[in-house]
Amino acid sequence: MGSIVLFGPPGAGKGTQAQRIMEHTGLPQVSTGDMLRAAVKAGTQVGLEAKRYMDEGALVPDEVILALIKQRIQEPDAVDGVMFDGFPRTVPQAEALSELADISHVLAIEVPDERIVERICGRVTCGSCGSVFHDTFNPVPANGCSCGNFEEKRRVDDNEDTVLNRLDAYHRQTSPLAAWYLERGLFHRVDGDRDIAAITADLLTLLE
Ligand code: ADP
Ligand code: ADP
Repeated sequence: MGSIVLFGPPGAGKGTQAQRIMEHTGLPQVSTGDMLRAAVKAGTQVGLEAKRYMDEGALVPDEVILALIKQRIQEPDAVDGVMFDGFPRTVPQAEALSELADISHVLAIEVPDERIVERICGRVTCGSCGSVFHDTFNPVPANGCSCGNFEEKRRVDDNEDTVLNRLDAYHRQTSPLAAWYLERGLFHRVDGDRDIAAITADLLTLLE
């Protein structure tokens, strides 16, 4: 197996599924969103440049993203491949990626637009371990997160206005990638509007 791409709109469940699939494949999750948020927090040049796009729900320029990815996939844990989450998001990113890594599967998690706002606006993550929860659909257990050190975190861009912009960016700039990967025989879809566990089972079957 090479590297995997988890594809889908904001809030589709890419991060949720990446954490669950990681337990089976051992491939590390590479989330460009997480990398950008770390850069913003650290106040690096990349973070300063990326923040204004992220706050609006617009895509960060390709060259910024590709510089991050090139560096990340040279890390020792990436030698056997990685699971990309939220990357690539434009055709130029996918073209550049095809020169950098061997992609074996693009797994699209399909969720209708009308579900996205409720998914995003209820998202909570644990600041200690990165686990993803939802106020209604996947609540934090009463005794806290399994890491034992639950720290509630909500993203600044997880609000209704920004979500609508992110969804618009997805339809205009990212969804054309489906046809691009379909032509290359790499594209697989799963219905993402179901139980988290049922989706994981389908994704694992596709990877077998
Ligand atoms: P993405 O990484 O694609 O943006 P997340 O994995 O962060 O998406 O999920 C977005 C929100 O939706 C989170 O609050 C998560 O708990 C919730 N969620 C994920 N998968 C499902 C599902 N199958 N059904 C209901 N809620 C889900
Ligand atoms: P979600 O899956 O909920 O949309 P992400 O964490 O993947 O959120 O991304 C958050 C923001 O980071 C995006 O709205 C965008 O501004 C930026 N971003 C993340 N990945 C990319 C990428 N591959 N290309 C361009 N911008 C990106």
